[in-house]
Amino acid sequence: MICTKCGKIIEFENDRLEQLQSQVVAGFGFHMLQHRMEIYGICADCLKSREQRMPLQAAKPGERAVIRELTGGSNIRMRLLSMGLRVGDTVEVITNNGQGQLVVAVDFHRFVLGRGMSQKIIVQPVHPEAAKS
Ligand SMILES: [Zn+2]
Repeated sequence: MICTKCGKIIEFENDRLEQLQSQVVAGFGFHMLQHRMEIYGICADCLKSREQRMPLQAAKPGERAVIRELTGGSNIRMRLLSMGLRVGDTVEVITNNGQGQLVVAVDFHRFVLGRGMSQKIIVQPVHPEAAKS
């Protein structure tokens, strides 16, 4: 199995699959010399990190998250960048009451973001156990 995202290769063996292959091949009167099976997809790790992505707007107060992507037009991206928000920054949500503005902190800087803007910032939550490093 080959992960198209990170390139990881997971080898597997399955007796039933091998048997089935031999049977199918024999059914064609074909003499198999060697075979190769490749399954392309997304590995469990990549799937997990992808599922964890969400707009900053969905983050709860007190939650810490890493900015993974700035979406939206170049206007919004430029505005976010000029404010000092970059991909890779860890933000802490100070207030988010589900409506109106959202206040986040990066290090000791605080940012007030409109809801539209906070929707354009894609983050990945930081889990407490992973944040120690
Ligand atoms: Zn992967």
